[in-house]
Amino acid sequence: MAVKKCFFGIKTDRQVDGDRMNPTVMNKVLTEGGESVSVAACMQCGTCSGGCPNVDKMDLSPRNLVLMVQRGEWEKVLKSNTLWLCTSCHTCTSRCPRGVRPSEIIEAVKALAIQEGIENNSVKFNQIFVELIQKRGILFEPELMHKYGGIEAMLSQAKLGIKLALRGKLSPFPAQVKNSQKFSQALEKAVKS
Ligand code: SF4
Ligand code: SF4
Repeated sequence: MAVKKCFFGIKTDRQVDGDRMNPTVMNKVLTEGGESVSVAACMQCGTCSGGCPNVDKMDLSPRNLVLMVQRGEWEKVLKSNTLWLCTSCHTCTSRCPRGVRPSEIIEAVKALAIQEGIENNSVKFNQIFVELIQKRGILFEPELMHKYGGIEAMLSQAKLGIKLALRGKLSPFPAQVKNSQKFSQALEKAVKS
């Protein structure tokens, strides 16, 4: 979690005045995130960070990430591991007293980061996941593992995979949704919305 810095007792990582906010960066995030997102309304209370199950692993807490967007510290935001450690549980959004919707801000920044060419294992994993869901509608875990980590990843998890299959928790064969046409239509609609 980001360390709070103090300057003569004043916390320097806290709320910025409206006139010191960066409208360019905020608007970029708002355009991507949609009308419900409200970056400027954040009062830096920290409720979002207090409820985040992954905050101890993040270099910017959700509160801090919103502050960096307010300040326009775009490079810091783009490099943050918070984008990839957020599990989209939406606890922060459900608890925020100002309707800021931090989880949606993170989603928006993540989408912008991918558009700006950021590449890492999380992006790769997400892209393979989406591709496989589009293909058959239901995830076939061994296929995901093979595409993501190759044969080595499959071998390293083989013992667990066999155990799961024997207990009926993992099918050794790929499944398919019953009505693939309806599924494709629903997917198309979701992408457009
Ligand atoms: S809970 Fe809402 S208002 Fe409070 S710091 Fe988080 S985003 Fe800002
Ligand atoms: S949605 Fe992300 S940032 Fe918000 S509480 Fe969950 S993990 Fe933390």
